[in-house]
Amino acid sequence: MITCVYCCHECSEDAQICPNCGKPIFRIPVDDTPDYNKLAEALRRDNDINQAELSQKQVIHIACIVLLLTLVVYSIFTR
Ligand SMILES: [Zn+2]
Repeated sequence: MITCVYCCHECSEDAQICPNCGKPIFRIPVDDTPDYNKLAEALRRDNDINQAELSQKQVIHIACIVLLLTLVVYSIFTR
């Protein structure tokens, strides 16, 4: 049985139109209904990975700057 989304009348599985209100019947497959908790969790996990990647990049960036400064200071003092 399929429940009409408009009038909540229970229609037969092969009905195209609701016999009670005459509106087309929407078949919403239960398996395809997105699980919003899982979706939110997946998004949160993606954000965590992005933040981890960002901080790793920042560390490399800072390391490069420190190395460059060390080289500059070294070249100045060994002149
Ligand atoms: Zn209906």
